[in-house]
Amino acid sequence: MTTPLVEMDGDEMTRILWKMIKDELILPFVDLKAEYYDLGLVHRDETNDQVTIDSAEATKKYGVAVKCATITPNAQRMDEYKLHEMWKSPNGTIRSILDGTVFRAPITIPSIHPSVKSWEKPITIARHAYGDVYKGVELRVNEPGTAKLVFEGASGKKEEVVIQEFKGEGIIQGMHNTDKSIRSFAHSCFKFALDTNQDVWFSTKDTISKKYDARFREIFQEVFEKDYEEEFNKKGLEYFYTLIDDAVARVIRSKGGFIWACKNYDGDVMSDMVSTAFGSLAMMSSVLVSPDGNYEYEAAHGTVTRHYYNYLKGQETSTNPMATIFAWSGALRKRGELDNLPELINFGNQLEGACFDTLNEGIVTKDLVNLMEGVTPTQVNSAGFIGAIRERLAKRLG
Ligand code: NAP
Ligand code: MG
Repeated sequence: MTTPLVEMDGDEMTRILWKMIKDELILPFVDLKAEYYDLGLVHRDETNDQVTIDSAEATKKYGVAVKCATITPNAQRMDEYKLHEMWKSPNGTIRSILDGTVFRAPITIPSIHPSVKSWEKPITIARHAYGDVYKGVELRVNEPGTAKLVFEGASGKKEEVVIQEFKGEGIIQGMHNTDKSIRSFAHSCFKFALDTNQDVWFSTKDTISKKYDARFREIFQEVFEKDYEEEFNKKGLEYFYTLIDDAVARVIRSKGGFIWACKNYDGDVMSDMVSTAFGSLAMMSSVLVSPDGNYEYEAAHGTVTRHYYNYLKGQETSTNPMATIFAWSGALRKRGELDNLPELINFGNQLEGACFDTLNEGIVTKDLVNLMEGVTPTQVNSAGFIGAIRERLAKRLG
């Protein structure tokens, strides 16, 4: 390796898996050059969360990061870790520095059948991670009166529309987005599509929301025509826009194998539905792609606290490391692509291949046992699973 990979360590059970993955599956095979940031909650607290900011800045500098799941502190964690402050979600901090879109794709195998029979290939959800109801303001009104939407321009221009003449109690919500954020969302989606050779579907409710949702549609169309249409045509890829309700129906009837770009709320809801329908949260990988081409790979799940507490009690745990391994393989392959290192690209592919070999032979962690069809599963613990992958990886690499 020439350029360092930004390595962000994390918390609890995934921190245990992290070390096992590095020791067993990475270091014996790759001359790893990593810049290490410890995002474990203890170290975040010690550095007043500066380490999270530094790790995001390093990602901007080098372009590729791999991240372990981390605890987002709440009141209970304040006590448990004697924290100085309730630090913000590391993912939120990293996302706001890199300004990206989150792509989530299930890792699929032949013996785990999606609940939707027609799905043959994974569906990737691209969630716009800025604005709308997540940055909304709300009011409850408890008397008759007039609600208005008012804009006071810096130039002095003023615009006003009546939302509702209330005759009694009710509720009001105000939300926004920015052209800049929508544009970068569009760029991320089209870039990721070219990277992964998949069509892009985009859906909003622009028949009802003729200004707000329509602006999303307009910006996507504009960005597509200006910067991507030619390359899409060359590769035989398609950009397809439709209404969100039509999209839902088509997604269910589809064979899968495309990127579904979703507004913030749609992506929040649909990614949980899609991941569950494909089988297990432990088999969902996630990558944050910024408009200027930085990549941060991680598992979609959290630190698996329940398993960690069992582990601390000395009990055997069968936590699934697949999504975390795929974060490593994805990051190493991307590093290889950016630096033109065919061997590193091959390693990423072979590591994933060795995982599939293991699963296809029926060697699985506990969460997958009841999902397998057509093979008799053998349940192993995390170390046993990683050991089985290592054997197969060594064989593949000769
Ligand atoms: P979680 O860690 O995703 O785990 C929820 C449950 O899902 C687990 O108890 C387990 O079910 C199952 N599960 C998830 N990943 C698994 C795996 N790899 N193998 C086997 N089973 C798996 O979510 P959580 O318990 O709500 O959150 C725990 C911590 O993670 C929180 O502190 C939260 O802040 C943090 N979190 C971080 C991220 C991130 O860094 N991206 C994302 C989400 C949550 P069973 O118990 O039934 O076995
Ligand atoms: Mg959700």
